[in-house]
Amino acid sequence: MKTRNKLINGAAFINGEEFIGKKTFDVVNPATGEAIVSVADLGLKDIERAINSAEEAWPSWRTTPIAERSAILKRWHDLMIKHTDEIAEIMTVESGKPLEESKIEVTYGASFVSWFAEESYRTYGDQIPSPTADKQIVVLRQPVGVCAAITPWNFPLAMVTRKVAPALAAGCTVVLKPASQTPLTAIAVAHLALAAGLPKGVFNVVTGKDAEGIGKLLATNDKIRKISFTGSTAVGKTLMQHAASTVKKISLELGGNAPFIVFDDADIEAAVKGAIAAKFRNAGQTCVAVNRFLVQEGVYDQFAERITEAVNQLKVGNGLEKGVKVGPVINQKGLEKVENHVKDAIEKGASVLTGGKHKNALFFEPTVLGDIPLEAKIAKEETFGPVVSLFRFKTEDEAVALANSTEYGLAAYFYSDNVKRCWRVAQALEAGMVGINEGAISTAVAPFGGIKESGIGREGSKYGIDEYMEIKYLCFGL
Ligand code: NAP
Repeated sequence: MKTRNKLINGAAFINGEEFIGKKTFDVVNPATGEAIVSVADLGLKDIERAINSAEEAWPSWRTTPIAERSAILKRWHDLMIKHTDEIAEIMTVESGKPLEESKIEVTYGASFVSWFAEESYRTYGDQIPSPTADKQIVVLRQPVGVCAAITPWNFPLAMVTRKVAPALAAGCTVVLKPASQTPLTAIAVAHLALAAGLPKGVFNVVTGKDAEGIGKLLATNDKIRKISFTGSTAVGKTLMQHAASTVKKISLELGGNAPFIVFDDADIEAAVKGAIAAKFRNAGQTCVAVNRFLVQEGVYDQFAERITEAVNQLKVGNGLEKGVKVGPVINQKGLEKVENHVKDAIEKGASVLTGGKHKNALFFEPTVLGDIPLEAKIAKEETFGPVVSLFRFKTEDEAVALANSTEYGLAAYFYSDNVKRCWRVAQALEAGMVGINEGAISTAVAPFGGIKESGIGREGSKYGIDEYMEIKYLCFGL
């Protein structure tokens, strides 16, 4: 790809230096099929070198004064914001998301860095009153050590900063393996971190196609004390098994099957607006994307009509073009899954209110399916595409039971103007995050994460840094 974007770079980033090695693979723009740049395809020996450099950098980084660590993070944040246009362009060409969304992700991704730059000052310990006069009890919080992070392609920046920023703020060093479809954003921001003054070896980016081998090495290596993963539930379970061999601390941000309930007493216009926000970001490929719209029978027809009108307004195309709201899905496998879910729902009796077909290349028409039977795959599996799936229900209890009838528990949303119902339903939903009359819930200041098979741990907020700290109890005999 011809570009003037100086931040596009295919070299891995080990010990503050670029490294390509003998093998490479192409990163391809899903909107055009065009190769953007060749990226280092590292072997396990190279990954070990990155782990060693993170280990060597740790003693000095953990003892660097907090004011200095925090200042470096703030400069890193500022550099990301300064380079918004270049980073956003990289994200759009490697992931396919519309440029407007990529720019929002730069602000969102960078906000984790500024947030944790501040939180580094607040890693307080405790003094606990001793039950006896001959002892003093003190609790310290200390960085866990070398951390590994593995991130997905759907948020090439935010998933990186959500892990790397709290780790660095806590005093840990990091080896990051970004998704091989979108490694360029991670490499670009690692260079910006170096420019911001981060010492060599503190943050390493390793790239490679052997995700299974690299993942196993990161999860089993005894120099690594913590692994944080965002991606599919299947891979998360495998990493958890590997991590057991060295009893590593682990955080998992996994798949979802978010319900979005519209009650009879909801503000329908607000619900449609929230639905579009919660469904179509990144062409429906977000872990908090709504998978099932559960609509009460009294407003079902009205909601179905209004959301179909709103979906028909969405412009589909290459994310670099003006006004595009829905880009391609990430790859052929993703496209086939969307097609399969839509076909299966139609065969089982769903009606097509709009869309329903593959457009061209990796583009799928924004779609609304009505009256989907509960046996359809779309009711149970994460679709990860631009498809609104409508289910009818009669009572509040039925809606809550349907919403919770999944092994996942990441995000849930509901719309109601009845305050008592809002409290009841918010408490009954089995999810780590609940949007009440709101479809956009992600922010660096709130805890992001799931329950059940959607994960372990929280990212962002005052809780996020705990994932990278150990508690140490000191008992002083007097
Ligand atoms: P994925 O296939 O699990 O890949 C995620 C990352 O894991 C990539 O870096 C990938 O590398 C790597 N990987 C793949 N197979 C591996 C293995 N056997 N061992 C170790 N690492 C492995 O998931 P995805 O399709 O990219 O992402 C979509 C999923 O992520 C969805 O389920 C979505 O809901 C979830 N997600 C969750 C959150 C959250 O916060 N809960 C946020 C975003 C996405 P390669 O790219 O090199 O294959």
